[in-house]
Amino acid sequence: MNTEVSLFGYMLQMRSHLLANKITEIHQLRNHSPEPDRKEIIEWRSKLFQHLGFALSEDYEKAQAEIQDWADFQEQKVPHEYSLTYYLNSVFYSRKLILCVLENEIKDNTVSPAALLEILKVIDPLLDHATSSLTNNYTKNTYSTETDEDLIITLEELKDFKFALNEATIFAVTDQNNTISYVNDHFCKISKYSRDELIGKNHGEIFKSGYHTEEYLNNILHSIQQGKVWKGEICNKAKDGTLYWVDTTIIPYLNFDGKTYKHISIQYDITEQKKTEEMLLKSEKLSLVGELAAGLAHEIRNPLTTIKGLVQVLQETTEDKKVVYSDIILTEIDRINYIVSEFMVLAKPHAIYFTECSLTDILKKVIYLLEAEANLKNVVIINDFNDEDVILYGEKNQLTQVFVNLLKNAMEALPNGGIIRVSTSLVKDKVRISIEDNGVGMTEEQVKKIGEPFYTTKATGTGLGLMVSYKIIQNHKGSISVKSELNKGTTFDITFPLIENNAMNTYSTTNK
Ligand code: ADP
Ligand code: MG
Repeated sequence: MNTEVSLFGYMLQMRSHLLANKITEIHQLRNHSPEPDRKEIIEWRSKLFQHLGFALSEDYEKAQAEIQDWADFQEQKVPHEYSLTYYLNSVFYSRKLILCVLENEIKDNTVSPAALLEILKVIDPLLDHATSSLTNNYTKNTYSTETDEDLIITLEELKDFKFALNEATIFAVTDQNNTISYVNDHFCKISKYSRDELIGKNHGEIFKSGYHTEEYLNNILHSIQQGKVWKGEICNKAKDGTLYWVDTTIIPYLNFDGKTYKHISIQYDITEQKKTEEMLLKSEKLSLVGELAAGLAHEIRNPLTTIKGLVQVLQETTEDKKVVYSDIILTEIDRINYIVSEFMVLAKPHAIYFTECSLTDILKKVIYLLEAEANLKNVVIINDFNDEDVILYGEKNQLTQVFVNLLKNAMEALPNGGIIRVSTSLVKDKVRISIEDNGVGMTEEQVKKIGEPFYTTKATGTGLGLMVSYKIIQNHKGSISVKSELNKGTTFDITFPLIENNAMNTYSTTNK
């Protein structure tokens, strides 16, 4: 080969590092951001100059093979994390730099025009070779990381997942009309139906327990038809008529036009858990009734004393006074009647039935029930309600129980009297009820513990009140949070979702 050409080749090899650094600078200028100045990349760029120089000064074939290797990221340990353009630009800039150098050499007359052509004839096909090899390797590394072997492993794993899912859960597949197309063994076992009896049947009809309202069930269907995953607890009826509870997740599968074409339901048996919960609710309610009874006895004794006194003087009094006294007597009897009937609502076992209920009515009743006891204990209950009433969808007795629990706790936190403020406010599509006391408060440790079953700091406490309240609030899709400071006081914030499209229903708020 021409000596001018080989000399230029040696020079490229010698200056390879310098040129590679120049490319990094160009990158930085182009992208207006400092390119990560990584040693591996600079090293890799300088190698291209070395191979090109080698082709010019010594062995074209060998250089070509080296460039083939150079374009293999994995071989070269070059990070495969930038775009393809990024790597191709390296080649492009290398050519530009070489041309600049050649321009200078021609000016200095160290390279003749004839040699220039010779050099380009060698360099250009090699750079072409570099770009096409880079492109090939780039796509290969990006898209074919999963070999056949990997795919086999993935299939194996899928089989394992299916096995695990089958073992651990109650599993069913239904089509868009809720017709059962697959059930696993656990499903048959809990429902006491055979597989043949289930396939082809309507999932909604066959297990209807009568526990849930139509509305509840329609809501489930509605949500999965919209393609949303539904999670919740369902009470089903087995073939022999017994009821069982399942914690359920229903996952709708959508086809290309967004319509559900099948649902998969994954369930866990929570029947036992439900039974324990029910028992706890019952026992807590009983102890609450007991506690309330003490307060109520006092509350009833007061009007009775008034009545007794009035009846004693009634005989010896004038006619017009008799009318006034009878009026007072009737009012007092009404009060007794009211208190006793409210108390019975709470004491009587009742079906859990969700309806629209007025939050203000519930809160007023609770305060009314507890006022007598509060007076005795020097506690003032301030009601700071929103003027406009709020309608919740829930179970009135359970909601009453929550507020009685919280107010009783607040009262018990005020052994020497104090103030309890009950306020409501609307926050977006929710209503928040705050129950604030300036009582003994709690330490951080205590706050963490409350709501755990049987956690109590009271000599005669049950430690169930808050747990039951949390459960009820959760059943109502609400939430509860607490802020407390020792010797300062405690605030419980409870939020409930408002009834849809009926966010602020105005009731005439008459004081009872
Ligand atoms: P109980 O009232 O039977 O102790 P709860 O579940 O109602 O059970 O309450 C658990 C505990 O939480 C109480 O014993 C008390 O230590 C703490 N607690 C609850 N409410 C308050 C409050 N308003 N102020 C201070 N402590 C409270
Ligand atoms: Mg309590």
